[in-house]
Amino acid sequence: MYHILIFGPPGVGKGTQSQLIAEKKNLFHLSTGEYLRKAIDEETTLGKKAKDIVEKGLLVPDDIMIGIVAEALKANLDGKDGFILDGFPRTLDQAKALEVIFKEMGFNDIIIIYLKADENELVTRLVKRGRKDDTEEIIRHRLKIYIDSTEPIIDYYRSFSEVKEICGVGEIEDIFSNICEKLR
Ligand code: AMP
Repeated sequence: MYHILIFGPPGVGKGTQSQLIAEKKNLFHLSTGEYLRKAIDEETTLGKKAKDIVEKGLLVPDDIMIGIVAEALKANLDGKDGFILDGFPRTLDQAKALEVIFKEMGFNDIIIIYLKADENELVTRLVKRGRKDDTEEIIRHRLKIYIDSTEPIIDYYRSFSEVKEICGVGEIEDIFSNICEKLR
């Protein structure tokens, strides 16, 4: 069983690598960003609440996100060999809530992957990606939120777990094989 959390700044390739890992290891891949974008497209109650926040590059409130992740984990693990969470947790409160969820579900062997790249590389990549929240101004803002709110979580995990750091710059296949090597 693989219980993986993948971290890294916006644009580092978490989504792409998570998908590859999920395919290879038969994991449930939950991208909270994807989940929110789908809700926004479908104009669900959640989508209506989240639309403005996501488009501005701000964080959706913790209680909403924690509820989504708890439910998704309970509903989607049948037939899978574990999961990979991509984009969650993003705040210390989310990380602490996740500990409670994991305890309830009996998961105690969590693998932390941390994909890294420098800020200018990320801005260049994201501007090219061209999603609605990928203008330079919003990207810089998302990077700031990432540095303020999400990076401290990595230190939190470091205090009781190994963090597998991987360089997120280079060819997709090479980065993927570095990840696979570290998962062995
Ligand atoms: P991402 O696809 O991971 O870059 O997420 C896109 C946007 O979705 C973020 O900029 C946030 O507005 C929102 N989002 C995704 N995951 C979370 C989370 N765990 N907590 C709060 N907001 C989130």
